[in-house]
Amino acid sequence: MNTKDVKAYAAQNAETPLREFTIKRREVTAHDVEIEILFCGICHSDLHQVHNDFGGTMYPIVPGHEIVGRATAIGDHVTKFKVGDLAAVGCIVDSCGKCRQCEADLEQFCEVETTFSFNSPDKYLGGATFGGYSESIVTDENYVLSVPQSLDLAGAAPLLCAGITVYSPLKH
Ligand SMILES: [Zn+2]
Ligand SMILES: [Zn+2]
Repeated sequence: MNTKDVKAYAAQNAETPLREFTIKRREVTAHDVEIEILFCGICHSDLHQVHNDFGGTMYPIVPGHEIVGRATAIGDHVTKFKVGDLAAVGCIVDSCGKCRQCEADLEQFCEVETTFSFNSPDKYLGGATFGGYSESIVTDENYVLSVPQSLDLAGAAPLLCAGITVYSPLKH
């Protein structure tokens, strides 16, 4: 699979600060959107994962799951985005797509396997997925959200986790 090198910030272990680190991103496949990351929120879950508070952190880890940016490349079969569109990625980047939960648009509860934006097995490149503390991300369009032009992008980023975490229970 073709890849490109992308600058990121990674923690190499639970004790040291994040430092510059080069990661690989796949070139877009048929259903992917490549996003130049313009803003990424800092969520306390990022810190927990960096510090291995939940166990199972795969180092080096590139956190970040409140990602907002602009589409810079799209796969041949992408229908929801075009180059130049504002786009966002939250906590998850893949799921089975077939189980009851996925069929009900509740991919975060996928009964088979949810792939998180970072620190999750990467089905394409092996190793771990890398999050938004990086220059760009490549994500299946089904897990990419549209961002209205009218929103302040820096303010929009935290909606991807902190915002939805409040909105969802209120709505329910
Ligand atoms: Zn599923
Ligand atoms: Zn979060």
